[in-house]
Amino acid sequence: MVLQLMALPVWLVSLVQPVLVPFCFVVAWSMVGLILWNLVLTVRDGVGRAAVMHKIPCAECRYFTNDHRLKCPIHPKIALTESAIDCPDFEDSRLG
Ligand code: SF4
Repeated sequence: MVLQLMALPVWLVSLVQPVLVPFCFVVAWSMVGLILWNLVLTVRDGVGRAAVMHKIPCAECRYFTNDHRLKCPIHPKIALTESAIDCPDFEDSRLG
């Protein structure tokens, strides 16, 4: 009884179905496309961010203390930040 009350009339279903099926197809695949596009953008941004972070030279610098209270006595405000990229006082600690 409840199903009969909830069921749409056949003429209405046949009228709406040719429009609704392609519309739902487009909407569903658009959502899949948006999710994939967001994944691509997230990976691209993450790789770009990681590339920038790897340019920070402080971890291999002679003046880097590895102490959170004073990371660098020469430039304490920019140590381990993007501002330290191309730091003029960088000296490679591996060179001796
Ligand atoms: S001198 Fe420059 S590169 Fe070296 S630890 Fe300090 S901020 Fe980083």
